[in-house]
Amino acid sequence: MNDSLDTILITGASRGLGANFAKVLADDGFRIIGIGRNKNNLEKVISNLPNQQFNHQFLELDITDEISVNKQLSDFNLYGLINNAGIANTKLLHNETYSDLSNIIDTNLLGSLNVSNAVIPKMIINKRGKIINIASTLGYRPLAYVGAYSATKAALIQVTKSQSIELARYNICVNALAPGYILTDINRDQLGGETGDLLKKKIPLKRFATVDELDTIISMLLNTSNTYMTGAVVAVDGGLSTGL
Ligand code: NAD
Repeated sequence: MNDSLDTILITGASRGLGANFAKVLADDGFRIIGIGRNKNNLEKVISNLPNQQFNHQFLELDITDEISVNKQLSDFNLYGLINNAGIANTKLLHNETYSDLSNIIDTNLLGSLNVSNAVIPKMIINKRGKIINIASTLGYRPLAYVGAYSATKAALIQVTKSQSIELARYNICVNALAPGYILTDINRDQLGGETGDLLKKKIPLKRFATVDELDTIISMLLNTSNTYMTGAVVAVDGGLSTGL
């Protein structure tokens, strides 16, 4: 198998959720192209994936670099794309600087759009594709100190809905996955100690998720038999977004 319609491109694949999505989907029989900025980590993740006979691949790439994204990604014929790369910060919204805001919007919103827009033309030609945008519970139920992050994830949810409407005629399905809290490098500092304990009390399941608790859902979202689901926002959040 090479650059084929069974390939899934995952951004931010060098660690956290992205590295785990790569493992699960490689195990499901897909060829993986992992994108990230840390070449050493990426190489380690990709060389340890199951089904090495598929020639999984990694690309060192910053998703905010529009020119490089287009140059490196627009020739791929993909079955799937997971827009997973993202950053967070913890500040009150009125204390965010212009540079803080640009940075988080550039990565979480514009970076994801850059990557989608580079690969969609080939999906249109092939009349086949699945895009999963990794949003967050915070995209529709924000908390204090994560206003900028929440706004970018709300925008990504709206992008998902617009893409699903615009791309349906080409048989391209677009859905968002909205996880609750999972301890990874993006939030380890924020969620340790008392803040984390307070947050757990708000979650009906009274705990954060582990990374592997997204395995079933990411497999289902990208399953080739999942052909009628588009424009959905799937919450996997221990009930966090359900109650007050
Ligand atoms: P993480 O920090 O471990 O991983 C994020 C990855 O994105 C890293 O590999 C990072 O290098 C990469 N990345 C960031 N900016 C990039 C750029 N400009 N170009 C290329 N790669 C870039 O965090 P994670 O928890 O694995 O988060 C993955 C996604 O899941 C993010 O979009 C995050 O917002 C979302 N999410 C996480 C949680 C959680 O609790 N961990 C909850 C909801 C949503």
